[in-house]
Amino acid sequence: MTASLDTVRDILQRSICAVVGHQTLLQFEHHRLSLRCVACGHETTGWTIGEPPSRSATSASPSRIETSHAA
Ligand SMILES: [Zn+2]
Repeated sequence: MTASLDTVRDILQRSICAVVGHQTLLQFEHHRLSLRCVACGHETTGWTIGEPPSRSATSASPSRIETSHAA
């Protein structure tokens, strides 16, 4: 058997998380918020904060509609 104690502990911890759920804590990073499990290290995709929305998000409410006509 070649599995180290860390690997066994990791598998055991993930099994516990699968049964009782992750023990998540709010994690603050620069321009990002996420939830991270203190037991197994699972991390959500999180939310980007403090940055302007991308152009694709603002296209829903355009301030000016540009049209081009090839004459
Ligand atoms: Zn977990």
